[in-house]
Amino acid sequence: MKERIHIVWFKRDLRIHDHAPLHIAASRGKVLPLYVVELDYWQLPDASARHWHFIRQSLHELNTALSRLGQPLVKLQGDMLTALETLHERFEIAGLYSHQETGNLWTFARDQRVAQWCAAHGIDWQEYQQHGVFRRQRDRDGWAGKWEKLMAQERFTAPIRLAPLQTRIPQNGLPDNLGKVLEASESRHCQTGGRSEALLLLGSFMRERGHYYSREMSSPLTAAESCSRLSPHLAYGTIALREVTYKLHLVLEHAELEASWKRSLRAFDARLHWHCHFIQKLETEPRFETDNMLAVFDGLRENDFNPAYFAAWQTGTTGFPFIDACMRSLRQTGWINFRMRAMLMAFAAYQLWLHWQQPAWHLAQCFTDYEPGIHYPQIQMQSGTTGINAMRMYNPVKQSHDQDPHGIFIRRWLPELARVPAEYLHEPWLMPYSVQQHSGCVLGVDYPEQIVDHMAAVRQARAKFSELRRHNPVFREQAQALNAKHGSRKKQNKPRKPAKLSPIDHGQMNLF
Ligand SMILES: Cc1cc2nc3c(=O)[nH]c(=O)nc-3n(C[C@H](O)[C@H](O)[C@H](O)COP(=O)(O)OP(=O)(O)OC[C@H]3O[C@@H](n4cnc5c(N)ncnc54)[C@H](O)[C@@H]3O)c2cc1C
Repeated sequence: MKERIHIVWFKRDLRIHDHAPLHIAASRGKVLPLYVVELDYWQLPDASARHWHFIRQSLHELNTALSRLGQPLVKLQGDMLTALETLHERFEIAGLYSHQETGNLWTFARDQRVAQWCAAHGIDWQEYQQHGVFRRQRDRDGWAGKWEKLMAQERFTAPIRLAPLQTRIPQNGLPDNLGKVLEASESRHCQTGGRSEALLLLGSFMRERGHYYSREMSSPLTAAESCSRLSPHLAYGTIALREVTYKLHLVLEHAELEASWKRSLRAFDARLHWHCHFIQKLETEPRFETDNMLAVFDGLRENDFNPAYFAAWQTGTTGFPFIDACMRSLRQTGWINFRMRAMLMAFAAYQLWLHWQQPAWHLAQCFTDYEPGIHYPQIQMQSGTTGINAMRMYNPVKQSHDQDPHGIFIRRWLPELARVPAEYLHEPWLMPYSVQQHSGCVLGVDYPEQIVDHMAAVRQARAKFSELRRHNPVFREQAQALNAKHGSRKKQNKPRKPAKLSPIDHGQMNLF
């Protein structure tokens, strides 16, 4: 007789704590904890080696935790349907349990195939919510209240013991490398995976690092230390969002905090709402990964894609030191703060007039924390294709002066500018030739000339958007429909009008 099992399928939820599928499956019988290394997924243009390294480290810790309970993780390679077939031959599958994944279109299609397979084989597949993202939520009515209620709910405890499986399963283990490698020398400084690291980050942020979060999150000089850095852990689920909100509210309610610290923790709390606010958009409309949010923008930039501009932006060789330093730092470390992500994307979209799809893939590969549900809606927001958010056209020179006034970040990431005098560091194109020679940074030889006139390029971009939006009933209609479905309901008593074109923006994003 076949051994009867409940399969817990781990995806972006690599932990045993506050894990509904594991908790419930374990209460029903024998658990087979499964991770499938889906080889086709790793060929996608948004998958990269740094994601895999983070996952691999997290899987090692997950395996250790499960082994301590009595049943190690079962690791199979190939695709999920083959894995299910293999297990179906050997076991009686009493149920399949997983979290509700809001992934990319590939994982969405994969999940549909899994659902069909389960239906064909009479196997019940239970999917459980892991964030404040609601399946089959048509619009935002009542969303915020549901989020609060879910976060306040009791967390799921980890099982005390898992009965070991008797049936032998030939396993493949975990490959060393998967996904696109940006460059051989890169990825050395990326964040480490695993739950223990997530707990350390949460602890140090709540104890000391987060004190000046509000004040220090905007500059790439201070943000790396003052932001929580929890994003890859939330993206791959080594920690649950509810564990973070629980700890945050404990501190907010019980600790004696200075006003600045309280302000910082409230700002952090807002970000945790944003996390789900954005993922909800892709959950409701998976097409946002590939389609402009407003169809009225179709064809706006797609046919003007300039591969040379894209290559310069990708490699941090645009001739704009602050843009290039941000990109090169991101390529090496796998992380950059929110404002700089927004600026990098906006520069690609407005100054370089690049359609957002290829930049989105590049940034997805660079970010260790790639989370499709946040990524694509943010990418579109920074590219102006949502129609309902103010368009932020960042001035890279102004940002450079504001966020890196002494050029410390620029010099750190662009060694070729190390000896350029401070007065020219933000705009090297103003440097006389004799100074270029003296500082060992001849433009066009040691460091590129600026690839566009950034002010003229932004003026052109604004004009193109204005033309498309002004007195255009189709634009208004589409923007209002999008807002009715995806716009936040916070402080909104009457339907919001489509956003006006804003002047070149230097302020922090106001997402709500
Ligand atoms: C173009 C673009 C692409 C982005 N792509 C991603 C992505 O793929 N994955 C990702 O996790 N974040 C993404 N973000 C959002 C944000 O920049 C990161 O979440 C943040 O920088 C992560 O660092 P942290 O964990 O220290 O964040 P903290 O500032 O400490 O915030 C805590 C958590 O709140 C959430 N959060 C913070 N800011 C935002 C935001 N603006 N929108 C939604 N959620 C937020 C994240 O889960 C984050 O871990 C993107 C932003 C932009 C502009």
